[in-house]
Amino acid sequence: MKNLPDFKNSLTQLIANASISSTQADWDQGNLDVIQLLATWFEQLGFSIDIQAVPETRNKYNLLAKLGSGEGGLLLAGHSDTVPFDENRWHSNPFEVVDKDNKLYGLGTCDMKGFFAFILQVCKELPVKQLKKPLYILATADEETTMAGARFFTQTQTTKPDVAIIGEPTNLVPVVMHKGHMSHRITIHGKSGHSSKPSLGVNAIEIMYQVIGQLMMLKEKLSLSYNNQAFDVTAPTLNLGAIKGGDNANRICGHCELDIDMRSLPGMTDDELILLLSEALKPLAEKYPNRVSFEELHPSSPSFEQNHNSELVTLAQEISGHQCCAVNYATEAPFIQQLGCQTIVLGPGSIDQAHQPNEFLAHSEIDKTKEILVQMIQRYCL
Ligand SMILES: [Zn+2]
Repeated sequence: MKNLPDFKNSLTQLIANASISSTQADWDQGNLDVIQLLATWFEQLGFSIDIQAVPETRNKYNLLAKLGSGEGGLLLAGHSDTVPFDENRWHSNPFEVVDKDNKLYGLGTCDMKGFFAFILQVCKELPVKQLKKPLYILATADEETTMAGARFFTQTQTTKPDVAIIGEPTNLVPVVMHKGHMSHRITIHGKSGHSSKPSLGVNAIEIMYQVIGQLMMLKEKLSLSYNNQAFDVTAPTLNLGAIKGGDNANRICGHCELDIDMRSLPGMTDDELILLLSEALKPLAEKYPNRVSFEELHPSSPSFEQNHNSELVTLAQEISGHQCCAVNYATEAPFIQQLGCQTIVLGPGSIDQAHQPNEFLAHSEIDKTKEILVQMIQRYCL
């Protein structure tokens, strides 16, 4: 094990291997270098390694490392990718770890390649032979865009740990709830024509105007029918995000598109929300046959809730010294939870630093993060 790097060195290597995810092809990168780095380290510690190619991605992989055998155990999970960066706004090279003012700066330090550096250090000191239940390390691909890695992992795995911790930056506060997220495009297929002869065309903008009326009623219905006080915004949301249609003032608009975003509360399924949307559009679909349609823009991500009274939440609150909470951002937790394990999101660093220039991990969180991981491994694997 003499070849294994210390915390800062492993963090440096993880950050130096760029693994940016973006929906724009010129930004998007594979993550194999990061995956291979993790495989090399954890293999030296006696973990068995499974690297999984994630379909329909640009050369991206998941890694599952497993130590120990038997049922149950603990899964420590995180994503291996980062967001793109804004070069002019970084004070240092985003791919270099800069230790300054008691902070470690670098792209992915807190969101969230840094989590793997913590796991590595903790595992180096583990009494490996004494594990009674397995310890799993999962590094996923493409979390920042499609969550394709976590989706594929849960579809293809039979692994069933007792508990899972996703080390996204929560300032070490256990997160047990977040909203789901879906985006749709509503399209109106009208019929263009000369503006002087309205009866010869079908104006797509006029139909979209009625669609928007229906959506505003749906928005009100959502806020009256569903509420969860754990969130800042207590109701599900519906946002009209982008609209385009038509080409010229003197032509009847033949085509109009509206992109919307809906965020569900825990307890609501994606299907339920899609049904509500479909019902809202139904009167117009009937009034204008074959002219109103909608489709998903990206695969949706479900809402997430872990029972507050579960043992994992109680323990996480005790060890971290923080009450559990709900957050506004989405994570891979709803997918990992499908393995059938108690699941929380709990990790070092702040979401305020994630996706920002000069992302950092504060020195002050290092010892506490290690301590939490040690205690969790002791409780669930030893
Ligand atoms: Zn993240």
